[in-house]
Amino acid sequence: MRNRPDSFATLAIHHGYDPMENEGALTPPLHLTSTFAFETAEAGGEMFSGDRPGHIYARISNPTCDLLERRIAVLEGAEAGLALSSGMGAITATMWTLLAPGDEVILDKTLYGCTFSFMHHGLSKFGVTVTHVDLTDPANLSAAISAKTKVVYFETPANPNMRLVDIRAIAAIAHAQGAYVVVDNTYATPYITQPVKLGADIALHSATKYLGGHGDVVAGLLVGSHELVSQIRLYGMKDMTGAVMAPFNAMLILRGIKTLELRMDRHCANARTIAAFLEQSHGVQKVWYPGLTSFEQYDLAQRQMSLPGGMIAFELAGGIDAGRMMMNKLNLITRAVSLGDSETLVQHPASMTHSTYTPEERAAHGISEGLVRLSIGLEGVDDLLYDLEQALPNAPIRNAA
Ligand SMILES: *Cc1c(COP(=O)(O)O)cnc(C)c1O
Repeated sequence: MRNRPDSFATLAIHHGYDPMENEGALTPPLHLTSTFAFETAEAGGEMFSGDRPGHIYARISNPTCDLLERRIAVLEGAEAGLALSSGMGAITATMWTLLAPGDEVILDKTLYGCTFSFMHHGLSKFGVTVTHVDLTDPANLSAAISAKTKVVYFETPANPNMRLVDIRAIAAIAHAQGAYVVVDNTYATPYITQPVKLGADIALHSATKYLGGHGDVVAGLLVGSHELVSQIRLYGMKDMTGAVMAPFNAMLILRGIKTLELRMDRHCANARTIAAFLEQSHGVQKVWYPGLTSFEQYDLAQRQMSLPGGMIAFELAGGIDAGRMMMNKLNLITRAVSLGDSETLVQHPASMTHSTYTPEERAAHGISEGLVRLSIGLEGVDDLLYDLEQALPNAPIRNAA
């Protein structure tokens, strides 16, 4: 069947840009400007009061960022988007906007390390109550939520242990109590899951990862209603954090998003093969990948994700000592944090991305000390299998099928 003109890939390449409005330039111009001229003093005043559209100053908006914002919004099925300096910029700008002293934020058990640190060492210092609830069972939220709860925040799949949260079920419970739902959609990307369509108020990204896709930029994005996004732009971003995206970085993310669908298809195809290989390898104790039928939340993955994604977590029988030995033997797969790049990356969350937790916190939050995280890249899958096979302990078996 032919693509309709609003298919994901077409929107990712064309939405919001007409070359004929830009001297025929196929690629959108890069607006390197800090400020914008007002035609008259009155016009400038009207822009400040919000009575006239237009750009004022690049810590509020910029035409290159604006194109990216409209494009991510349409890909996520949301009204509006906002470009920020990093994923942490998106998270902090959102939280400073939605929360006030006396409020409570309910978080899932597992969060990216710096998000965990911001909530615990940042927000909690300012009179916000930070409560962790196992959101993999929505009944736990029903039991914990109260009139004090202002925000319910989670990642799905969660970094690093791949647990999933049912966005639709959580949103129904949160909204009945008047709480906002904020979803970190970094792992899934809008090609796989569109949280706002499932009821979330805000979906946000470390665009450093799959959306940029080439390991050359740190950036953040978020989407939601016009009203909420405008509040986060004018308060959380402009005043509270100043975490504005540079226009050059917007250009890199616009370029990355053009190939998001192609790249995600390949990330997923490679990851499926590697997850199946790991699962049947000697010395591998457990593999967490939403595309495996052994995955505990396989049914939810089928319901909520159009593909299982490119991230895998696994644990070796020998724990972290065996994991370190394996990582050090890898020749092609690169030892590095971050994810979503063309290159396959491996890291050890307990000593790296999630070292912001204490060991006791990691134990309480389901991040085992032996967990190894793989971000499956776009290389030839046989080369990745070859590298893993020679690095795994005890010469793993390979199923001929
Ligand atoms: C990397 C990451 C972040 C932080 O994003 P930065 O762009 O590094 O600031 C937030 N959430 C998740 C799930 C991440 O993987």
